[in-house]
Amino acid sequence: MSSPARKVVIVGAGPVGCLAAMAFAKQGWKAELYESRPDIRLPASKLANKQRSINLAISHRGIAAFDAIDPAATQRFMQAVTPMRGRMIHSLNGDLDSQLYDRDGQCINSIDRALLNEELLEDAAASPNIRVFFNHKVTSADFDAKIMTVRNVESNEDLSVGFDFCVGADGSYSIVRRQMMRVVRMDYQQEYIKHEYIELRMPAGQDDDGKPTFLIDPNHLHIWPRHSFMLVALPNKDKTFTCTLFAPSSDFDRLSSADAILDWFRTYFPDALLLIGEKNLLNDFSQNPRSPLMCTKSKPYHYKDRAIILGDAAHSMVPFYGQGLNCGLEDVRVLNALLLEEGVKSTPPSSAIELSDNVDKRLARALDRYSESRYDDLIAICDLAMDNYVEMRHAVTTPGYLFKKTLDNLLYALSSRTKISLTSLGPLLSRMPYPPGTPSGWLPLYTMVTFRPDISYATAQKRATRQARIIAGFSWIVMLLIGLAGMWIMWLALAFRTQVQS
Ligand SMILES: Cc1cc2nc3c(=O)[nH]c(=O)nc-3n(C[C@H](O)[C@H](O)[C@H](O)COP(=O)(O)OP(=O)(O)OC[C@H]3O[C@@H](n4cnc5c(N)ncnc54)[C@H](O)[C@@H]3O)c2cc1C
Repeated sequence: MSSPARKVVIVGAGPVGCLAAMAFAKQGWKAELYESRPDIRLPASKLANKQRSINLAISHRGIAAFDAIDPAATQRFMQAVTPMRGRMIHSLNGDLDSQLYDRDGQCINSIDRALLNEELLEDAAASPNIRVFFNHKVTSADFDAKIMTVRNVESNEDLSVGFDFCVGADGSYSIVRRQMMRVVRMDYQQEYIKHEYIELRMPAGQDDDGKPTFLIDPNHLHIWPRHSFMLVALPNKDKTFTCTLFAPSSDFDRLSSADAILDWFRTYFPDALLLIGEKNLLNDFSQNPRSPLMCTKSKPYHYKDRAIILGDAAHSMVPFYGQGLNCGLEDVRVLNALLLEEGVKSTPPSSAIELSDNVDKRLARALDRYSESRYDDLIAICDLAMDNYVEMRHAVTTPGYLFKKTLDNLLYALSSRTKISLTSLGPLLSRMPYPPGTPSGWLPLYTMVTFRPDISYATAQKRATRQARIIAGFSWIVMLLIGLAGMWIMWLALAFRTQVQS
C-alpha cells in the first residue's frame, strides 16, 4: 500500500501563498492554506475592494512562475491586464516624453491586485489537494513538534494544526518568520525609508458617445518626477488610473489642510490635479492611509526540512522596480524547481538513505540550496529597487541619464539581435531555477530584470555594474575628446588671429 501524501500548511493566501499551495498540490502534497482575512471573493470583500482600485505591474518573472505552475492562470490573467510599453514622463511645464521599456516592444502589465488574488484563490480552491481556511490567523508555530496554533477569528477558538512542512507566505510582518527566528540563527534587517505613499484615483473621462475613456494614454506607466518626490499612475480596466504619490514624510506632514494640499498640487502637479479633480484629491487624502515603505532582508529562509518563508515574508522591498510580487512568485518557481531537481517526494521518506535524524535529507538539501542560492538574488533586487527610486523621481529627466540610456540601447541593438521570448524559456524555467551558461551580448539592466527571467537578479546586477563602468569610461573619453577638440579649435583661432595681426 502506498503511503499517504504529506501535509504542507501555507500561511497567507496572498498571491505567493496561493501559487505555493498550487505548486505543492501539483507535486502530490496535501495542502492547507490558512488566511487571517475573510475570503476576498465574497461580495462584502469585493465591495470593500471596489472602493479602492489598487493595481500592480506584472512582468516576465511573474508570468514565468505562473507558466511553470499554473499555465491556465496565465492565459486568464493576460486577458485582464493593460500592457504598458514604456514610461511617460510628465514635466512640470506639461511636456510629455515617452521612454519605451524595450526595443522589441515587450511590455509590463498593469493588473488589479484583488482580481489577481481572486483568480489564484479560485484555482487553488478548485484543486482537490488544497483546502482553504479563511478567518484563520496563525499565532504560533513549533517546527520541531510540527504543530501550529491557529485562531479562528470569528469564533475566537484556538486550534492546533499538525503539519509535515510549513510555508510562510504571510507578508512583511510574517509570524512564520518571527517563529523561525526562535530556532534559526537568522540574520534579519529591516529598514523604513524616509518616504511614504498614498494612493489616489484618477477617474475615467467620457468619450463623445458618453462611454468611459482613459484621460491619459493607458499603455504607459505615467511618472511625474519632481526630484525628491514623485507621482506615478497605472491604468485600470475600468478606464481609471490608480495614482501613487511617493514623498518624504516631512512633506506629507506639511499637507495638513485642504489649502496646503491643493497649493502643493497646483505647484508641482498642475496637469495631474486637473485630471484627478480637486474634490477627488481631497477625498482620497482624507480617506486613504499614508503608508510606510520598508525593506527587509533575512537569511536563511528555511529551517531544516520543516519550514520556509517566501514572498514579502522573506524580502519586502520598496516598490520602485515593480518587482516585489514578481520576485515572490519567482521564489515559488525556484523552490518548485529545486524540489524537482532533488527528487523530493510528496510521501514521507521511508528508507534510512532518505532520512537522517528524522530529517528528510532530500527536502533539507533542496531548502539549503534555496537559501544559499536565493540570498544574493534577493539582496540584489532589494538594492536595485532602492536605487530605482532615485532614477524614477530624479534621473529620468537629466541629460546624463538620457545620454547613457541612448548608448545602452545602441550597444544592445548592435550586440544582441535576437529576442528571447518567454514562450521559448517556459519549459526550461519549469524544470530548473535558471538555465546554465551566461547570456550573450550587451543587455540593459531594465531588460534583464524585467524581461529576462532566465537571468537571476544577482547576475543582472553584476553584469549591469560592469556595463555601467564601460559606459562611464566611454563617457569620459568622449568628454576628453570634446575638450581636446575645443582646445585645438581655440589654438587654431589664436594662431589665425596672430597671423592676421602680424
Ligand atoms: C505601493 C506598492 C506598489 C507595488 N507595486 C508592485 C508592482 O508594480 N509589481 C510587483 O511585482 N510588486 C509590487 N508591489 C509589491 C507587492 O504588492 C508585494 O510584493 C506582494 O503583494 C507580496 O505578496 P505576498 O503574497 O508575499 O504577501 P501579501 O500580499 O502581503 O499576502 C500575505 C497574506 O498573508 C495573510 N496573513 C498575514 N499574517 C497572517 C497570519 N498570521 N495568519 C494567516 N494569514 C496571514 C495576509 O492577510 C495576506 O493575505 C507593490 C507594493 C506596494 C506597497
